[in-house]
Amino acid sequence: MARYDADVIVVGAGPAGATAARWLAGWGFSVLIIERHRLPRYKPCGGAITQRTLQWLSPLDPTPVLEIGVPTLTVQSPDGNQFIASLPSPLIVTVMRDRFDTFLTDAALAMGAKLRMSEPVLRCEQDGEGVTIVTVKGTYRCRALIGADGANSVVARQFGLRPKRRALSIVAELTPQAWERWQGGIHLHFPVGLGGYLWCFPKRDHLSAGIYTLLPRLPDWRQWLFRYLASLELHGCLDWSQVKGHPVPLADKRSVFHRGNVVVVGDAAGLADPFTGEGISWAIYSARMAATFVRAFVEAEKDALADYTRAVRDEILREMIAAHRFAFVLFTFPRFSCQRILRHRRVLDNFAQLLSGGVRYRDLWRKVLRKGLWLLVRS
Ligand SMILES: Cc1cc2nc3c(=O)[nH]c(=O)nc-3n(C[C@H](O)[C@H](O)[C@H](O)COP(=O)(O)OP(=O)(O)OC[C@H]3O[C@@H](n4cnc5c(N)ncnc54)[C@H](O)[C@@H]3O)c2cc1C
Repeated sequence: MARYDADVIVVGAGPAGATAARWLAGWGFSVLIIERHRLPRYKPCGGAITQRTLQWLSPLDPTPVLEIGVPTLTVQSPDGNQFIASLPSPLIVTVMRDRFDTFLTDAALAMGAKLRMSEPVLRCEQDGEGVTIVTVKGTYRCRALIGADGANSVVARQFGLRPKRRALSIVAELTPQAWERWQGGIHLHFPVGLGGYLWCFPKRDHLSAGIYTLLPRLPDWRQWLFRYLASLELHGCLDWSQVKGHPVPLADKRSVFHRGNVVVVGDAAGLADPFTGEGISWAIYSARMAATFVRAFVEAEKDALADYTRAVRDEILREMIAAHRFAFVLFTFPRFSCQRILRHRRVLDNFAQLLSGGVRYRDLWRKVLRKGLWLLVRS
């Protein structure tokens, strides 16, 4: 009989891996997380999470590692005009990923999962009875493997599950002086030609600023970032050695999320929101879903992982496709969108509902199709 080191091995201790491990260990399965870095580790990220994310984390309460609640959202259109909307609390909160991810991983360990750190996975092979994982330090066997190893996932690449499309996100941690001049809220700027937006998010004692774009490449990203920070009089607080970029993989409707006894979750599966670039919530949501299907699989339901692909397509991808439509409108026509659409109180209320989990992109898109004509007629 085959020897297993764990029922389930999870590659990666980000929000997706830690969440999948927490649920599976809580249900009594033996779970081993293999992480390339030693935790806590820095992760380039804006660290903005929404009320919906907090619900999806439940019953885990991440209050001890939340940085601050965001009181306002400022939207700046291409011509420099801006408007400020106050946000209900806690619609958006920020985290630092080193503390947040360690907190989530500790929660999985408290449920009984085991962790091996500083151990990059090199390759994996599956056979009829399980999966073999080879790391820089050893070889492990499991019944089912969860690839939660992020944007450059070895697991997704190895099993042909890599998303084809990629957005790009860049983050700079600004010096503490920037914080002293800041009003406290989130600032978003939608310029013409960027195919995305520039952002500034407040943390407890500093600011993070960056770029999110659906363009596959952005050779002049330095100029974009510098001009944006100069417009906020924060360019003096930028340390170029602290600027980090990363792809944000995006699944499409042909994407598959399992192969044999392997599934992918979070960024490894390309499940970030193409409109906002928000990936933490979908990492947590997909990991919770994957845990349910992997549980059924390990309990001898052999088609369960194919059902995972179907469920992700139905529940998450349909949302991503609707989100992409919003991204297309806003990023292609930022002036019109900022001046004519975003500043409407009702639009902002709908967006707030989306972030709090009260409504889906699909429902909002249907509303847009009904009411969009009305807005155009009024313009
Ligand atoms: C600049 C930037 C800003 C962003 N801002 C936001 C934001 O404000 N809000 C938001 O919701 N999302 C944001 N995102 C997206 C978000 O960071 C990701 O969607 C999220 O981290 C996905 O979580 P994950 O667990 O799938 O992957 P990750 O968080 O990337 O975790 C993957 C883990 O796997 C480990 N790993 C990788 N390869 C291996 C290997 N071979 N062996 C073992 N371990 C491995 C990594 O070390 C890592 O710990 C941002 C992304 C970027 C790049």
